[in-house]
This record gives sequence, C-alpha cells and structure tokens, in this order.
Amino acid sequence: MSTCPACGNASTAKLFEVTADQASRSFVNPRQYPDRSRKLTGHLSLLWGRDTCDIRKCPDCGFGFADPFVAGGAEFYNLAAPHPSYPAMKWEYARTIEELRGLSTAGKTAIDVGAGFGYFLDLIKDNCFHASDIYAVDYNETAQLALQSKGYKTFSGDLREDDFIPMRGAFDIIFMFQVFEHMDRVDDVFARLKYLLKAQGSVFIAVPNEIRTYYMECHESLIDMPPNHIGRWTKEAFDSICRRHGLRLSICEREPFKLLKFLREDIVDSFLRRAEKPGSFCEFVRGLPRSKAQRIGQAVIALALSPLRLPAWTYAVGNRSTLGSALWVKIDKVS
Ligand SMILES: [Zn+2]
Repeated sequence: MSTCPACGNASTAKLFEVTADQASRSFVNPRQYPDRSRKLTGHLSLLWGRDTCDIRKCPDCGFGFADPFVAGGAEFYNLAAPHPSYPAMKWEYARTIEELRGLSTAGKTAIDVGAGFGYFLDLIKDNCFHASDIYAVDYNETAQLALQSKGYKTFSGDLREDDFIPMRGAFDIIFMFQVFEHMDRVDDVFARLKYLLKAQGSVFIAVPNEIRTYYMECHESLIDMPPNHIGRWTKEAFDSICRRHGLRLSICEREPFKLLKFLREDIVDSFLRRAEKPGSFCEFVRGLPRSKAQRIGQAVIALALSPLRLPAWTYAVGNRSTLGSALWVKIDKVS
C-alpha cells in the first residue's frame, strides 16, 4: 500500500528502506541477547510479509509512513522492549496543563490513552480533574498495576475495538502522548476519538517532531525505526485527517529547542546508531554483559566521539527553531 494514510493521496514517494535485520539490531543487540535478536528478526519478516520495510512520504501533507503500514503488536514489544521505562516529565505535559488551566475542567472526565505509569495523570489529578473522573488505558501489565494502585480506572485493549468502553460521548478530554506515531488504522483511531468525545470535547496529542526525526536520520543518528514508530505526523497531516473526520485542528506547536537537552540526547543517540553497526567497536562494547563498568565504558566512548558531532550540531543550532523533540496538537470536536 502506498496511499497516504493521513490524507488519502495515492502518489507517495519512497525515501529509503530498512531490512528486518537492521531494524532488529536497532532494538536488540545480537551479542547481548542472541536468542531474542534472532526471534525479533524473524518476527519482523513475518509482520511485513517480506524482509524489508519502506519509509515513504506524502508530497501533499508531508506525512511520512512505514510501508507496510503495520504497527508492532504485543509480540513485537515483548521482544524489542520487554521493560519499557517512561520519563516522569515531558514538555508536552506542561504545555497541556497550561492549556487545561484555560478550560473549565471541574467535573469533567478525562482519559489518557497509553498512560504508562500514570506520570501525566499524577500531575493533573486533584488540580484539573477529580481522581474519580480520570480513566487510563495501557496494554502493558506492569503499567496497569501501577495505574490501578494510584486509583485510576484502568483499561487494557484496543481503543478501536467495539468492546472498548462502548460509551458514546463518554469523555470531555482525551490525551494521547507519544502513542499515535505507533498506530496503524489511523482512520479507525480518529473515528473512535470522535465517538468517545463529548460535544465540544478535545483531544491532546503529542508525537515526535518529524523535522527532528529527519535531522537525526540525515546526520548519522538513530533511525525512527518501524514497526515501533510507523507514522511521522506533520501539522498538514493532522489537519487533513481531522477534516476527513469532522474534527478541527485548533493548535499545533513544536517543542522549543533546548541546547543542553539536545546535546545530551544527540551524544547518546549517535553513539547508539554507531553501536548498531555489525562488527564495530561501539557494537562490541554495547554487547558486553550489563554492568556498571560497561555503562561507564559506553559513556566514555560516546563523549570521546562527540567532537565528530560538531558539523551536525552546527546545522542544528542554525535550525534550532524547528528542532525541539515533540509536535503537540489540540483537536476539537465541533458540532
Ligand atoms: Zn498525505
């Protein structure tokens, strides 16, 4: 399928392709976990129905997408990232709270799709919403236990399925942070968001900033690898899918660029990219048994290589107004 999933344009262009082996290496080091690495490579070939996956881009709305446009399921995540971690604070959390303060949220209901351990919900509980009005969705069992222990009404399962909270107009506010870029069947997702929202309800979505993604891929840092991330959303792509579903894209902002945060992430990410190359010294060190010495060794090498990043950093500073980490949107239901 090469039709744009965001706007329906049938003419999209191939940017590059990745192999199942290359994708597998980006998630699991084959020296450290040979068995898991082998299973993951085989699983990706099955998922894609071939040994490669293309990355394509729509010339109309700028949406970038994996082709086949198929998301990783439970088996993929169990192999690729069996112990996910979630940062406690993100720019999009603070930006959303700023927006919520301008709305009257007393007595309203909210649901966080892909809530992780509930760090965002902890920030809005008792000051924007009553705890009893907060719902959380996550398929990860450890995350579900954490959410339940905090008193949130917790669901697992797929937002798009008919047995998923079959309540039309159940929620005033829906949050989806760093989730939508993982999802296929995006029209079903938007149809469901509209169904679940009350009249005048809003959805807040944050995804990776696609300009930052292309910066990384063009400057020997990490590839935004399928089937973990399969969609590279743009303002125009959000606008298009909103219009097709009778929703309104009301705000779209990029995370501001913070130099120190950027440098820290760039040093780590460019080291990890080097460590994906079979037979490289970085791959050897990354594949050593996990220990404090191995972690220190990786940090020393990453820092020692950082002067090689100067041309990339010069480019980044020159384009800093576009290179924050996240793209954040507010979408409204208009009746
Ligand atoms: Zn498009």
